[in-house]
Amino acid sequence: STQEQPPQICVVGSGPAGFYTAQHLLKHHPRAHVDIYEKQLVPFGLVRFGVAPDHPEVKTARSDRCAFRGNVAVGRDVAVSELRAAYHAVVLSYGAEDHQALEIPGEELPGVFSARAFVGWYNGLPENRELAPDLSCDTAVILGQGNVALDVARILLTPPEHLEKTDITEAALGVLRQSRVKTVWIVGRRGPLQVAFTIKELREMIQLPGTRPILDPADFLGLQDTIKEVPRPRKRLTELLLRTATEKPGVEEAARQALASRTWGLRFFRSPQRVLPSPDGRRVAGVRLAVTRLEGVGEAARAAPTGDTEDLPCGLVLSSVGYKSRPIDPSVPFDPKLGVIPNMEGRVIDVPGLYCSGWVKRGPTGVIATTMTDSFLTGQMLLQDLKAGLLPSGPRPGSAAIEALLSSRGVRPVSFSDWEKLDAEEVSRGKGAGKPREKLLDPQEMLRLLGR
Ligand code: FAD
Repeated sequence: STQEQPPQICVVGSGPAGFYTAQHLLKHHPRAHVDIYEKQLVPFGLVRFGVAPDHPEVKTARSDRCAFRGNVAVGRDVAVSELRAAYHAVVLSYGAEDHQALEIPGEELPGVFSARAFVGWYNGLPENRELAPDLSCDTAVILGQGNVALDVARILLTPPEHLEKTDITEAALGVLRQSRVKTVWIVGRRGPLQVAFTIKELREMIQLPGTRPILDPADFLGLQDTIKEVPRPRKRLTELLLRTATEKPGVEEAARQALASRTWGLRFFRSPQRVLPSPDGRRVAGVRLAVTRLEGVGEAARAAPTGDTEDLPCGLVLSSVGYKSRPIDPSVPFDPKLGVIPNMEGRVIDVPGLYCSGWVKRGPTGVIATTMTDSFLTGQMLLQDLKAGLLPSGPRPGSAAIEALLSSRGVRPVSFSDWEKLDAEEVSRGKGAGKPREKLLDPQEMLRLLGR
């Protein structure tokens, strides 16, 4: 039985979901062995490549309590069925790596980027290192009103000298230093009661040095009464929006705002209809927005077009309407509509021994703390099943079998100690500039540094 040999478990993906699931398994089963397979050369998923460089306080999901195998793309280098044959249980924690397309004409024009790619670029995601966004325009439009939209707006408007001591890439910092962007519009289909960002991120925007918010008081008419009935976090958020839109700033704040050279604004009740090209058709020159009104109330209210449109001129469009998971392997069920692996509390439906956690389990919303809770729950379900004898019995070869397969395919995984070498190199490159690290961007260079 699995009691004789320590259970061999593998986790796919080394973001917060992968690490927290592994942590739970190791903590609550003293003999369990966990291997984490990761397609990047480096661990930590969106903690490294998503979370904004000026939010370092959440970059702590570090753990070295299990074997890390980077440079292994599951679904390409090794099939999920092969992992299932080698391990007693497999947990899929591979996140949500695609972006939700706008699906409007003009989306492919130069000057239109997904927020996902833009975030990847300033955070040093190897596949986005060539992005080179042109920031020579005066106005940028961000489509979407979630935390990622505010992250991107903040990075565009923060005085570059405030980013110099973060781990933002030197290349991105260089482009931001040359930026001529003065105005950022953050556009949403619905109203102030439906925004998806949280109060911390909004407060940071309102207090951003050198900038001034523009909110239209007309968007807030009648909200004073409605907010009494909404749940507390939403109430506090809406009150802050309402105050910012309608109250006259105090003397000090008014003086600060008078000196501001950059502005940002929330544009409500506007749904993108098409991206408008420049006269020569070579780049973006604006966005045509359909004016909307709400049908229904509260969080579930829908935006319906009124028939009116409005053109918003700009030289940069960042679409931030959500992330999306991909199916990993034909043998794994996938719900294309919800963009998740169908599961019951982390147990993949109809596939014993297969589990999921994080964004691929719940969909691409929620902070690291939410991801942690749901990953612990998946870990708990797996250990329950193990105890109840529901996982395959008999010994499993674990990593030995997979190493052999990978080696026969010319794939050479990197280990956690390899990462520690890259980490030390990054930290040492950042030192001169007073940065916590200067990220390595080129996988070839990383492999060279590891003597490959
Ligand atoms: P991920 O972090 O995406 O990890 C998935 C991992 O799987 C990645 O390492 C990926 O390379 C790997 N992978 C993918 N496919 C394969 C494959 N085929 N084989 C092997 N490995 C694979 N939360 C906060 O609490 N604070 C913040 O400030 C914050 N900022 C954010 C900013 C942005 C732009 C985004 C997008 C999210 C932010 N979040 C923040 C949310 C947080 O990042 C997520 O809750 C969390 O990262 C989700 O964890 P995950 O492990 O499911 O996914």
